[in-house]
Amino acid sequence: MKSFVFSDDQGLIPAIATLARGLGEFDAYTAGSASASLSRYGASKVFIFPEANLTDAIADLLSAKLVSGEYKYGFIASTVNGRDIAGLISAKANVNALAEISSFQDSQSSVRTKRFSFGGKSVLEEESNARIFTVAPGIADPKEVDHESQVEQIQLGPSKISVISSEDKKSGGVDIEKAQAIVSIGRGLGNKDKLSVIEPFASSINAVIAGSRPVCLDYHWLSEDRQVGLSGKKVRPKVYVALGISGQIQHIAGMRGSKIVIAINKDKSAPIFDECDYGIVGDMFQIVPKLVEELKK
Ligand SMILES: Cc1cc2nc3c(=O)[nH]c(=O)nc-3n(C[C@H](O)[C@H](O)[C@H](O)COP(=O)(O)OP(=O)(O)OC[C@H]3O[C@@H](n4cnc5c(N)ncnc54)[C@H](O)[C@@H]3O)c2cc1C
Repeated sequence: MKSFVFSDDQGLIPAIATLARGLGEFDAYTAGSASASLSRYGASKVFIFPEANLTDAIADLLSAKLVSGEYKYGFIASTVNGRDIAGLISAKANVNALAEISSFQDSQSSVRTKRFSFGGKSVLEEESNARIFTVAPGIADPKEVDHESQVEQIQLGPSKISVISSEDKKSGGVDIEKAQAIVSIGRGLGNKDKLSVIEPFASSINAVIAGSRPVCLDYHWLSEDRQVGLSGKKVRPKVYVALGISGQIQHIAGMRGSKIVIAINKDKSAPIFDECDYGIVGDMFQIVPKLVEELKK
């Protein structure tokens, strides 16, 4: 049984490739320019398309390979392009697709998958005949192999999509999904000027600053690419410090994979305290400067 893995974001290939490798042989597909790390995750071949947004052409190619029997399953990163492609392949190849799986088990006649539901509050275990899956970030801890895959550039067939224009969004210049330590702020911050209290703390633990949806989307205290949660980024740092964040399920859905969670909130009944390993009930503006003093020592 052979599978394929697709991600337009090359940074997501290692985790999905590690999952696919556990099932047998697989090929990896991505877009852009070849990076050396792509060939270290055990793919039989790594195929590189010139562009990732020609989703109809990518789906034509991959669905034909699914129909011909070359691949049994396809694991696709849950990016904007990935979600388009999964839907198109499902329709073109007439196979079922499942979105956002967080675990996968093959039992020959069917597959068993798990995925979060109700914004991450519960986990659904399902048995199905699906063959296409979009994969939530962090499905496996990436592990390299001791041999290199062959990398090949491939051209796509005709596409009905053409890019009219492309404009870079204003960004904070950090990728919170790759951060090992995150200090995340919520509405409890009060206003943007108070970031100056948080910044010394974040830099003293080499953390990047992220935030809840109101902080990033509604008040713009931080750029939108720093939003953690269901409709933001999914992060898995070693340490996640939540300051003035209540811990609603839509936020938790984005940081549940963190190894150690520390929360400071002045409301002792805030739901974030159900999710953290260490919790401090109190005013962050009193506690954070004291932590910085201690860390300096
Ligand atoms: C479809 C949908 C998608 C969503 N997606 C996301 C998402 O991706 N990410 C996300 O974050 N939210 C998301 N939300 C919003 C989510 O439901 C919550 O509204 C949001 O997470 C609350 O943000 P918060 O914790 O910063 O604010 P609040 O819920 O207002 O909490 C602020 C907290 O700060 C504490 N506080 C106040 N002052 C202090 C102080 N001085 N010291 C310490 N603590 C203090 C308060 O006790 C309170 O618990 C989504 C909602 C919907 C409907």
